[in-house]
Amino acid sequence: MTERFAERMKDAKVRADTRIVAGLGAIYCAGTHADRERVPLGSNAAALGVYGRRVPKLCAECAEHIRYAEKRRAYCPRDPKPFCAHCDTHCYKADESEWQRQMMRYAGPRSIWHGYAIPGIRHALEARKWRREGRTRRDHTDR
Ligand code: SF4
Ligand SMILES: [Zn+2]
Repeated sequence: MTERFAERMKDAKVRADTRIVAGLGAIYCAGTHADRERVPLGSNAAALGVYGRRVPKLCAECAEHIRYAEKRRAYCPRDPKPFCAHCDTHCYKADESEWQRQMMRYAGPRSIWHGYAIPGIRHALEARKWRREGRTRRDHTDR
C-alpha cells in the first residue's frame, strides 16, 4: 500500500464512499454469486480498518473489482466527487466500468433493504440532475 493511499483514506468522505461501493458490491455478490465461496474482503482499505467490523463478504472475482474501486476512489482527482457514472474524467478501465455499471444496476435498487437508503436517494437525485444538465447542454449545442 502506498503512503498516499493511506493518507487519502484518512478523509471521512473517501472512507464513506469506499464503504458504500464495497457494501453495494457485497449485495451484488450475495445475489448473483451465491454459489461461490464468499469471504470477508482482504484489501488495503480493510487493513486500514475502513470497514470496521462490517467487512463486506465477496467472492474472489468481486473482491478484485472492489480492490480496484478502492484505489480509484482514493486517487480520484475530482473534488467534490460526482458519482462515477456521471463523471467526465472517467478514470476506470472499460471492463471495470462495465462491472460497476452491472453491479450498481443490481445492487442500487436493493440497497434500500441493506441500510444504504440515503446514498441510494442521493444517487437518484444526482442522476436526475445530471440528465437535466445533459439535456440543457445538448439544447444549447443544438442551437
Ligand atoms: S470515475 Fe471520476 S469520480 Fe469516479 S473515481 Fe474516477 S475520476 Fe473520480
Ligand atoms: Zn462475487
